[in-house]
Amino acid sequence: MTTTANEHLNDWLRDAHAMEQQAEKMLNAQAERLEHYPELRARIVQHIEETRWQQRMLDDCLTRRGISNSIIKDIGGKLAAFGQAVGGMTVSDEVVKGAMAGYVFEHFEIASYTSLIGAADAVGDTATRSACEQILAQEKAMAAWLHDHLPEVTKAFLIRSETPGATAKV
Ligand code: MG
Ligand code: FE
Repeated sequence: MTTTANEHLNDWLRDAHAMEQQAEKMLNAQAERLEHYPELRARIVQHIEETRWQQRMLDDCLTRRGISNSIIKDIGGKLAAFGQAVGGMTVSDEVVKGAMAGYVFEHFEIASYTSLIGAADAVGDTATRSACEQILAQEKAMAAWLHDHLPEVTKAFLIRSETPGATAKV
């Protein structure tokens, strides 16, 4: 028995939903810990809102395609190591490693939605295609922001780490 294109698309939409749940956990963990990097924290808080919106968009796609929420699978395990690497990090350069991990994660999301756009196209699901395009734009914007700010975050960390009495890591 072969798996149909529509079944693959349903699976991948469920994967994306689980990915966004993992993203929300990681971003929340980062935002809660950050104290001394207000610009980074504000952008992360904005992306938490976007991530929740993305989850609703994916819910709508799945519902429209006749997939009930109760059978949304949890691929959290696959990404758990990544989440722990970010959320549970207590290393001295946490803010830098966290921003780098965020940059990598956004590109994982970019790859996912770029693929989903092709899959939605292949089965003629224009509504899903449009949803994935809108989400993709948010992921690209977040990745670009992190790209543009990673050097500044790193410099700010280095300055704080050499300042007596200052906490640098978050
Ligand atoms: Mg996302
Ligand atoms: Fe994202």
